[in-house]
Amino acid sequence: MTFKDLGLITPILRATDALGYESPTPIQEQSIPVLLEGHDLLGVAQTGTGKTAAFSIPIIQHLYKKNRNRKGKRIIKALVVTPTRELAIQIGDNFTAYAKFTGIRHTVIFGGVKQGRQTDALARGVDVLVATPGRLLDLIGQGYISLKDIEYFVLDEADQMLDMGFIHDIRRIINLLPSKRQSLFFSATMPGAIVKLSAKILGKNPKQVTIKPEQATAERVDQSVYFVSKKQKIKLLIHLIKTEGMRSLLVFSRTKHGANKIVRLLGKADITAEAIHGNKSQAARQRALGNFKDGSTKVLVATDIAARGIDVSALSHVINYDLPNVPETYVHRIGRTGRAGASGIAISFCMTDEKPYLRDIKKLIKQDIPVIDGHPYELDEAEEQKAMEEQKQTQKPKPNPRRRNNRNQNRSRNRNRGRNKGRGQNQGGKKE
Ligand code: AMP
Repeated sequence: MTFKDLGLITPILRATDALGYESPTPIQEQSIPVLLEGHDLLGVAQTGTGKTAAFSIPIIQHLYKKNRNRKGKRIIKALVVTPTRELAIQIGDNFTAYAKFTGIRHTVIFGGVKQGRQTDALARGVDVLVATPGRLLDLIGQGYISLKDIEYFVLDEADQMLDMGFIHDIRRIINLLPSKRQSLFFSATMPGAIVKLSAKILGKNPKQVTIKPEQATAERVDQSVYFVSKKQKIKLLIHLIKTEGMRSLLVFSRTKHGANKIVRLLGKADITAEAIHGNKSQAARQRALGNFKDGSTKVLVATDIAARGIDVSALSHVINYDLPNVPETYVHRIGRTGRAGASGIAISFCMTDEKPYLRDIKKLIKQDIPVIDGHPYELDEAEEQKAMEEQKQTQKPKPNPRRRNNRNQNRSRNRNRGRNKGRGQNQGGKKE
């Protein structure tokens, strides 16, 4: 199967050629024809499968055909909503590449930066808007954007949207869309809440395409696990970086604080690393990502949300410094390497506490993950158990005579938080 077989127009074929894409990925092969026919689509697929091209190419083709006799200022006809700034930027870059020879114009908007440049681009007129939910609603509220002419709507990474608490924002956006439109809904997982949301967005008989995560992981990524104590994780990481010839490495930390600490300790071992997480400014995140992409930083340490949109084709290794407690997250993480046919290596560190997570992961991906024995920092179960017991003892809360009072205070604080919810959201209050 070639891109030409999918019925694509010459300007798009020129773009896929220029990018060196030889053949469509499975999601592209299955989605592009049904989208060109105008159907709604439910895509169960994660980033790394080529899903951005799967949804953006048909939109570009539709717009190109309709735009030929266009006169006057461009109006927004297609809207892509995605949870994070990084993903938004990445989707924007994809539109730039795929639409290069078509004259279709797009812009990207997201929170955490001043809005001036974004509103200027909107004022000049675009055909496609890629947006994160908070900034989108904010600029709609200020009158810079109208959704009344939207003909193509894409909700990307729906499960992540829900995890990040965007459900109300999404509902508000849906209510502003014209009912006659083509809708595309993508999610890596399909829990009940996502199925319900998809039914609200998609028409009656959407086509469905499922690219199973286990296909993506099992086929392309070489996975292994090292049992190691919490204390020894950093030593093992340094040892692997120094001995395994890792070209470019993405390390996942569960917390922002943990990510900073890893960067600091790697620095002490003369390994240049940068962290990327929600507490960093947008400029710092983009800079770290840029350094990583051009190879000047070898190690990027990220939290899950910040890493969502990272697309580095030369990424050789992913290390799960902390195992995620949500098994699907593991699939997302290792999907950063081995993208679109390339092979990659994913290494997981697992301490005693994390063994249940490992079990859940193996159940989800329906495969065993080989354990690397005989490494210099191998876990001594008895030691680890003892250390954990000691830690639990020191962390036990002391009886607090004011506890009842505190609890009542917290309750009233939470009540107020509930009341205020939704107020600050569109003023850039929410981190995307
Ligand atoms: P995505 O899942 O959209 O984030 O895409 C993952 C990566 O695969 C991106 O770097 C794309 O440029 C690349 N890609 C998408 N489609 C193809 C294709 N048909 N052949 C080769 N690479 C592709």
